Order: sequence, then C-alpha cells, then structure tokens
Amino acid sequence: MRNSPTWPDPRAHILRHAPDAAVLYFSPDMLQARARRFQAGFDGLVTYAVKANPFEEVLANLVAAGIGAFDVASPEEMRAVRRVCPTAVLHYNNPVRSPAEVAVASDLGVRSFSVDCLGELDKLTGHVAPDSEISVRLALPVRGAAYDFGAKFGAGPERATTLLQEVVKRGFTPSMTFHPGTQCADPAAWGAYIGVVAEVAEAAGVRLARLNVGGGFAAHRVGPAPDLEAIFAHIRTEVDRAFGAAAPELVCEPGRAMVAEAFTLAVRIKALRECGAVFLNDGVYGGLTEMRDIGAPDRIAVMAPDGTSRTAAPRDRVVFGPTCDSIDRLPDPLALPGDLQEGDYLLISGMGAYSQSLSTGFNGYGLSDVVTSASV
Ligand SMILES: *Cc1c(COP(=O)(O)O)cnc(C)c1O
Repeated sequence: MRNSPTWPDPRAHILRHAPDAAVLYFSPDMLQARARRFQAGFDGLVTYAVKANPFEEVLANLVAAGIGAFDVASPEEMRAVRRVCPTAVLHYNNPVRSPAEVAVASDLGVRSFSVDCLGELDKLTGHVAPDSEISVRLALPVRGAAYDFGAKFGAGPERATTLLQEVVKRGFTPSMTFHPGTQCADPAAWGAYIGVVAEVAEAAGVRLARLNVGGGFAAHRVGPAPDLEAIFAHIRTEVDRAFGAAAPELVCEPGRAMVAEAFTLAVRIKALRECGAVFLNDGVYGGLTEMRDIGAPDRIAVMAPDGTSRTAAPRDRVVFGPTCDSIDRLPDPLALPGDLQEGDYLLISGMGAYSQSLSTGFNGYGLSDVVTSASV
C-alpha cells in the first residue's frame, strides 16, 4: 500500500491551510526507501520494532516495501500488525510476559520469543509451539547509546550460558539476542555484544540458529546523518570474526532508524514573550516527549505563515509547550533564528519515531493530524 500523496511537501500544505494544531507530515516514499536501504545493506532478516510507530499507514507501507516480520511487545501490537498483514511473522521480544499474554501470542501463531531468566522460560514451556525459537537476551554495560536498555532487560554472560543450555534441553530452537540501547551512533556497541554472544554460545556448547542484533540504529538527529552501512559492515565483520564457519543467521529489529526520517513535525509559535521565551502548540506531552530524554534535534527550519524562511542568526530560547504544566518545557537553551515571530511554524525533521506513539491528549493538546506528502 502507498497512501497517495496529496501534498508535495509540508510547506505547500501549511501555505494553503495554516494549521493551528501540530501536524505530522508523512512521506510513504521515504519510508519505503528506508526499508529498502535496510534490506539491501543488512546481511540478514530485517524486522521492524513496532513500538517506534505502530500506526497503520506505517505498517502497511513497510509491508509494501517487503518487510514481512515484526518485533512486537504486546498483544495489541500483534493485532495491529495482523490487521494490515495477516501472514506477518511476529517476534515477541519483550522478555517479560504474563501468562495471559503468552496465551494470546500462542493463539496468534507466534513462534519466536526472547527470555532473560528461567522464570520467563518456564512461562513459555508447554504453552507455546514446542519447536519455537527462544532467544536468550544478553545484557552488557554499553557506551554509545542515548540510553541503555541493558539496565532493564537481559541476562549477564553467566546466566545467559545456563539459560541457553536450558533452552536446548527443553527442545526449543536456540538463538540469542541483545539490544544495544537506542540512538547508537557507535558501531562498537554492536561489536562488544557480538564477541560476548560467541563466548556464551561456546561456553554453553550450543550452536545458535540465529543472532538478533536488536535495534538501536541511530536516526539523523544532530550533526551529519549516521552511516548505517558502516554499522551493517561492522556487524558482519564482527560476526565472522567471532563465529567463523558457525556464524548464525542474522536478524535486526530497527524502530527509530526505520521510521524517523519519513516524518516531519510542524508546530506553531503561539506566543513570543518580551523576554524571548517561545510558547509552542506542542510539547513534551505531545510529539516532543523524547526531547526531554535525549535532547533536541538540530534540523529545525522556521517559516513565516507566508512561506518566508526565517534565516537570521540563531538566538538561544527557552521553549515551552502548550499545556499548563511547568515541566512542559523543551531542553534549553534551544537555538532558533533570531527573527522568528508569533504565528511562525517550526518544521522539525526526522520526527517519525517515538512521537505519534508517545503523544498524549493531556490538556486537550497532542498530535492528531497526519498529512501525507511526497517529501517531508
Ligand atoms: C525498542 C526496541 C527496539 C527498537 O529500538 P530502536 O532504538 O527504536 O531501533 C528493538 N528491539 C527491542 C527488543 C526493543 O525493545
């Protein structure tokens, strides 16, 4: 499926409609191009981590671009994928599940799971298909990620070794997985994990069916665009070095890097105070939640309602969201063109991941409109 673009770009839509609420502009072509780039460059199965953006237009365009497998964390994500693609392969890689969630997954035909402790393996044993793939999730302290997922999920090398042996003992197909964090720009984050995965498999005496190297691929937020191909090449080199002829098949599960670039967020300046503070019509309860945790991106263009670009030298601003809550404030200072005015629009590039999916309706604000355009 491709939503037929109705607008050439966000500027054309803003000039015509002067939207007063925050709008996400979506380019199906850019999303499909990114999916093809992953599939061409990554030497293994490319799956999509649904949580980054679970909306139908995203899932349907990924399916159209040839993505047939999805990393899902909950029954609702499983159903969202199945609604657009009944035959999609689902990898249930949230390692903490209730028995009721396991039952739903089993009913929906899930045959790939991750675990990080014996209790979770017990919950699966006897309740999922007996030949299911069970990936033991490894956790290491890593550098180079915007924030570290290892603090919540994953087993250290010793526990991973005994778990892997137990997976084999129970008749499941043994694999391993890790997730280096999110917004990882440094390929070494993957390399460190791959070496230890090989040691764990060796110590356990288990040949891995597959190795899932997680998501975490960086999106273009600040500075130059990340070099995805360099990360793909590094992963391949490290897997060959660590495993040699026993190299498992590879799987990756990007969320952010798959979907971020296909969306631009347009927000409007509601008020410009004498002190220079800016009030926007969207903030940390809406599409800008992530800015509080991982900082503001530097690709923000400002345009006047008549389409003129604001290009004056940047000035540091304090920027607030629209709700009546004082934490609704972007990380400051945020440098924006010195000549911006009330009523102007901020066009923020690369906003497809963890924006729409995290937006709330708090105080009557938040993201609602998605407009399709050829480019964003
Ligand atoms: C969140 C998550 C991903 C996607 O992470 P990104 O940083 O968005 O690429 C992939 N796998 C698992 C298990 C996750 O929890």
